[in-house]
Amino acid sequence: MDLSVIIPIYNEEENIRPLIDRLRSVVGTMGLNSVEYIFINDGSRDRSMEIIAELSQKYSEIKFINLSRNFGHQIAVTAGLDKSTGDAVTIIDADLQDPPELIPELYKKLKTGFEVVYAKRRSRQGEGFFKKLTAKIFYRILRKMTSIKIPVDTGDFRIVDRKIVDVLKQMPEQQKFLRGQTSWIGFNQTFVEYDRDERHAGKTGYTYKKMIRMALDGITSFSNFPLKIVTIAGFVVSTISFFMILYALYSRFISKDYQPGWASLMIAVLFIGGIQLIGIGIIGEYISRISANIRNRPLYIVRESNISEQTKS
Ligand code: UDP
Ligand code: MG
Repeated sequence: MDLSVIIPIYNEEENIRPLIDRLRSVVGTMGLNSVEYIFINDGSRDRSMEIIAELSQKYSEIKFINLSRNFGHQIAVTAGLDKSTGDAVTIIDADLQDPPELIPELYKKLKTGFEVVYAKRRSRQGEGFFKKLTAKIFYRILRKMTSIKIPVDTGDFRIVDRKIVDVLKQMPEQQKFLRGQTSWIGFNQTFVEYDRDERHAGKTGYTYKKMIRMALDGITSFSNFPLKIVTIAGFVVSTISFFMILYALYSRFISKDYQPGWASLMIAVLFIGGIQLIGIGIIGEYISRISANIRNRPLYIVRESNISEQTKS
């Protein structure tokens, strides 16, 4: 199989037919031997699944996975990746915001020696000011907080080599944030720029609730920064407390300028406040290590080696 095209579907009844027409005509010009289109129906409540089933009768290269309910975009894509068999795998939105006409360019670039070619949005049409603003801020905050380079202004529209899919399958984490995971994997990555179109029909399946969840998944899967803040705050507060305690003692015993009970109360409150924050920070450090282990990611990924695969004794 030369190419797998992965298409997550959530209430896209009006977009599926135009999408597959455009996909087939574009991919037809690429001179590939075999292509598969994998539709993942992510619990659509409209006629999407019927349309997919119909199309799969008509064209043998159309495959589908019908999920039992709405699991969300990232999980739908993961299901598609798990079942894909292509040497190259491309992920594309069903709403025609990602132009299928870009696929040949992505594919060509991939074959010049890259493992990941993502499509970077030069501009975005037909999306609200608020969505664009929050997306812009999110990508930049995420970049600051994580140690890996997650590209800004990039969705999941991309093409990846089979090697990448095989590693993604070894990453059993529950919180999928594919953009981060792909960057984390490494190999040679590059991008192609494009202008993002308007949605062909229907409305976005990404509610604010889903966007926030995705943002939190992205941050917590790739950064311990929020936990670190607590530890840092603990030390800052403790330092300030230390000086305030000195001041309270000074007022009580030397300048004798105090109200009864004030000094002991101040000392108790400041001391406990500092200790508590440091305590939470320490617990946080352990939790971050536990969460790293629970993610169960491979420790490293080998690009190449001249040591042959030994059978384990
Ligand atoms: N999608 C999905 N499950 C969801 C939400 C969206 O499979 O819960 C699919 C949707 O059908 C589309 C892609 O994910 O193919 C991107 O979604 P959408 O266009 O709604 O997001 P936006 O472009 O507004 O960020
Ligand atoms: Mg869209």
